[in-house]
Amino acid sequence: MSTTGFIDGMRAEVRNLPAYNAGLSSDLVRARYGVTHVAKLGSNENPRGASAAVLAHLARWTTAASLSLYPDPSCSVLRTMIAEKLNVAPEQLLFGNGSEDLLAIAAHTFLGAGDEVVTVVPSFGLHIIYPQSAGAKVITVPMRADLEFDVDALIAAISPQTRMVIISNPSNPVGCAMNANEMRRLLSAVSPNTLVLWDEAYFEYAAGEHGYPDSLAILRESGLPWLLLRTFSKAYGLAGLRVGYGVASAPELAGLMDRVRTPFNINQIAQEAAAVAFADQAHVAASVEDTRAGRTQMHAALEALGISPARSLANFLFFDCGEDAAALAARMLADGVIVKPWREAGYETCMRVSIGSAADNALFIESFKRRRASF
Ligand SMILES: *Cc1c(COP(=O)(O)O)cnc(C)c1O
Repeated sequence: MSTTGFIDGMRAEVRNLPAYNAGLSSDLVRARYGVTHVAKLGSNENPRGASAAVLAHLARWTTAASLSLYPDPSCSVLRTMIAEKLNVAPEQLLFGNGSEDLLAIAAHTFLGAGDEVVTVVPSFGLHIIYPQSAGAKVITVPMRADLEFDVDALIAAISPQTRMVIISNPSNPVGCAMNANEMRRLLSAVSPNTLVLWDEAYFEYAAGEHGYPDSLAILRESGLPWLLLRTFSKAYGLAGLRVGYGVASAPELAGLMDRVRTPFNINQIAQEAAAVAFADQAHVAASVEDTRAGRTQMHAALEALGISPARSLANFLFFDCGEDAAALAARMLADGVIVKPWREAGYETCMRVSIGSAADNALFIESFKRRRASF
């Protein structure tokens, strides 16, 4: 029996999809390299973990509730909390099994064969993979040489044929962010036939930084169709539970996405944990504070080694290490250090390192020094 004929008959856009590069697990690195401690700095996770209030809630959970019931398909508790905090209509909100789920839902709701999407490179892989899986053609605009958004080049790439513009602000993997003027300038070049997908996975880290835009206000004033994405995976420390949310410019857009998503895409434990986490903003603030201090230290330590990381408003640094980043990252695994080497064409000498605990950050610097090709 062979599946070749069957696979040959499939949609080419799926057959040709690149695989998402999800990074290595700590267990795998421990087992393969015999190290006891792993500094997991490849996935932008929160070293502080989840809030103590979430852990306390989960410890009580199994006795208080039943696993046999379906979860609330509309995430009502979380929906009410977030709608109030953001001052948006509850019907504008949409929830996903992580915001990556919402990226997939948006691609499959709003894009079809031949539709044009504009995004940046280096990019968050799923900003390209999901549109491609829906048959769209993705145009990537490189960041400037100084690793800032090239707003002029983005404007030049956008046309009335563009169906969707996808930007993460702060950028993953670079860390830089557009300011309010740049964001307004970009949006003024977008036609009303285009959906602006504004991914703020690192919003909480950037919100207090100088020049970071009030994107919700700017998207609203644009009059365009838009979808703003945020997540509980990063500053809230809940990556393992998978909860992301989106705000759509109009309830109609959220309603369309609602038909495409799976009805029970957020499990009950995750819904409850996210609601408890959302109420504990002190935990978020402390995580952001840790990150800012760690980022300043790591930036200085890298500069002392002759490396110039990009400006970052997020919980990671991106830099050119001057050599094959994948090979260097592979050598660093022997020290129990996981980082993310970049693989997109033109960025193969770049790596992204998450800001972890002070000890893990120090381990990273030590390993980077030891393992890099001396020059
Ligand atoms: C981490 C990340 C996401 C996905 O986060 P989820 O865990 O799926 O909520 C989405 N966009 C960007 C840019 C990210 O870095």
